[in-house]
Amino acid sequence: MNRLVVTRWSHLLGYSGVGAIVRADNELFVIKDTRCWTDRDGRPGGELLCYVDLLRKSLGIEQDLRQPPLSRVLRNGVVEGTCIPAQRFPGWMRCPRCGLLYRQPWHRDARSAPDSDAADCLRCRCTGRPRLQQVAWVVAHPAGGLRDLPWHLLTHRDAQSAQACRADNTHVYLRLRRAAGSGLHWQLSCDRCQATAPLELRQPLPELDPQRQPWDWSKSRSAIETRQPAQILEVNDARLYYPRTRGALVIPPESRIRRDGVLALLYSNRGHRDQLAQTRSALGQRALMRRLADEYRCPVTEVEAAWAEIQTGWPLYDQAVTPGGLISKEFQALTEEIADLADGEDFVPRHQTRGWRNLTLIAEGAETCVWAALDQLVAVTRLREVRVFTGFSRIVQNFDDGLSPSDLDGLSDKPKTWLVPPDLDGSLDWLPYSGP
Ligand SMILES: [Zn+2]
Ligand SMILES: [Zn+2]
Repeated sequence: MNRLVVTRWSHLLGYSGVGAIVRADNELFVIKDTRCWTDRDGRPGGELLCYVDLLRKSLGIEQDLRQPPLSRVLRNGVVEGTCIPAQRFPGWMRCPRCGLLYRQPWHRDARSAPDSDAADCLRCRCTGRPRLQQVAWVVAHPAGGLRDLPWHLLTHRDAQSAQACRADNTHVYLRLRRAAGSGLHWQLSCDRCQATAPLELRQPLPELDPQRQPWDWSKSRSAIETRQPAQILEVNDARLYYPRTRGALVIPPESRIRRDGVLALLYSNRGHRDQLAQTRSALGQRALMRRLADEYRCPVTEVEAAWAEIQTGWPLYDQAVTPGGLISKEFQALTEEIADLADGEDFVPRHQTRGWRNLTLIAEGAETCVWAALDQLVAVTRLREVRVFTGFSRIVQNFDDGLSPSDLDGLSDKPKTWLVPPDLDGSLDWLPYSGP
C-alpha cells in the first residue's frame, strides 16, 4: 500500500533527511537515499540549480546541486511528479497486550490474505485483536549503519537455548514484555523453547556490516574495518541522526546573472551545450543552431551570439575561487556598493551609511559614541541562501565533510564517526539543496 506524506524541503534537508527515522500518521519510516529520488525513467527527479559554481567552489563541493523532487496529488487522486521513497522502519511490531513480536507483518498478511483490509494486517491474534505497535529500539553504528534488533538472538543469549532453538522468520513466537515487579525493565521470552532474557541496551551485538541501511542491499561499498561497537538506541534518541548541511549566500557576481533570454536558456541546458561542443563540422553546427533556434523560438543569430558568449566564459569569465574564505566574500558583498543594482537580483543590499552619518551629526550626547562605533549601515532587501545537504552521521556528530575513505581506518580508540553521503556510496554527481 502506498501512502503519501507531505513534507517541506527544509525538513528533508534537516532532521527528516536521508537516513532519518520520521513519524507520520503514528508510524515510523526511514527516508531512503538520493539514488532512489528518481522519476520513472531512472533520472534524478529534482531540478538542477544553475549559476552557483562560485558558491559550490567556495564550499568545496564538486557535485551539482539539485532540488529534492516535487510532486502533487491531482483531483482524481493520481500523483504527478516524483516522490521521495521511505520504508517502514523499525521492521518489527509488538502487541501491547501479550507482547508478541511480529516481523514486518504488513508483508506477512499481504502474502497470506491479499484481500484483507490493510489496517487489519497490523493486529495481534490474541484476545481483542489489539493493534500492533512498532518496537521502540533500533541498532545504530558510528559508521552510519542502522538495522533492527536481532530479537531471536537476544532472547536466546545462553549457549544452550541458542543451540536448541533456530530463528524462524515465518512464525510468531517471541515476546517482549515488561519484567514482573519492575515497570522499567523489559523481558524477552520464546514460546517455543521457554528461553528468557532481559533486554539490555548495553549488551554486545553480533558484528554485521556497520554501514548498511535498512533499505540498502547493494554490495558496491568497500567494507570498512572498525572496532567500535554498534549500539541499541531508542527511536527518539537524538544521537540516532545528525544531518550535516552547509549554507552560503548567493552573492555577486552570481546573484547578478540574468536568468531569462536565450543566453540563460542555452547555458542551463547542459545537453545542448555538449552537443554544440561535440559538433565539429560547420555544416553540423549550423543545422544544430537552427534546431535550437526553433526550440527556443528565436532567430538563429541569437543562438550563435549566446554560444559565442558562453565560449568566452559567460557568466563567470574564469573568475578564480578557492575553497573557504566564504565569510570574507560575503562581508565584502555586504560592504561594497553594487552599481546598477536591479530589484530582481538575488542579493540586494541598500547602503544607508550617508543618511546614518547625517543623523549622527544632528545627534548629541551619550548616544554619539554608540553611533560612532558603527562604520556602515546596510539594509538587505533581498537575500538568497542555498543550503546543501552533504550527509548524516549517527551516535557522534561529524563535521568533517572532507573525510575520504582512506581516512576511515577506525582502528584508534578515540570515538570516530563517519559522514554518510546522501547517496550512501558517493556515486552520484549531485547533492540535494534547499533554498528559494
Ligand atoms: Zn497480542
Ligand atoms: Zn526459543
